[in-house]
Amino acid sequence: MQNPITIALSKGRIFEETVPLLQKAGIEILDNPETSRKLILNTNNKNTRVIILRPTDVPTYVQYGAADFGIAGKDVLMQHGEMGLYQPLDLEIAQCKMMVAVKKGVDYQKVSSIGSRLRVATKYPDIAKKHFAKKGVHVDIIKLYGSMELAPLVGLSDAIVDIVSTGNTLQANNLVPVEFIMDISSRLIVNKASLRLKYQTIQPIIDAFSSL
Ligand code: AMP
Repeated sequence: MQNPITIALSKGRIFEETVPLLQKAGIEILDNPETSRKLILNTNNKNTRVIILRPTDVPTYVQYGAADFGIAGKDVLMQHGEMGLYQPLDLEIAQCKMMVAVKKGVDYQKVSSIGSRLRVATKYPDIAKKHFAKKGVHVDIIKLYGSMELAPLVGLSDAIVDIVSTGNTLQANNLVPVEFIMDISSRLIVNKASLRLKYQTIQPIIDAFSSL
């Protein structure tokens, strides 16, 4: 009999872009998380289930083995750390960029020049700290949990570090991207013990994903 498998996903882009990948591996999800309030979704295989989590919780469930594998953005993985996680594949889904942005009209070169002190609001303090340390710019990092675009508009910060996809959110809030930090995409993460103990079930799924 096939080992029971739990797959950790988050709603939105990652879910939508993962559905076709799972289909290629023969896994059909039977519920839609956008219309259902269920957190455990059934699939066409009674031994395979999908759990729906906040993006930042996906690595935690996989690390502790509550999920055998999951899909998480590089941004989330960099903040979480890689302990207990095997990352066999960059799935190249949910692609976007980590950028620095400021209010339109702000002279970014000037406010971020060596010797000045920049206030940066972000959900990604580690990524922001590393980026500005490399440039030799002193920063005060203000950790936020959402709506970062608001921070420069009301004087909480000089700049934000956030994910940009189309750029529409920045534009709608009178902000402009001024510095590229890194490309972001989503990766497959696998619990190391699960891979060993359920190899015969999990490896074919990894193979199906990697052949795409
Ligand atoms: P956009 O307006 O298309 O540039 O999207 C920007 C907003 O959507 C940001 O505030 C992000 O938080 C969110 N976003 C866009 N793409 C992603 C992604 N691949 N992963 C996580 N968040 C994203």
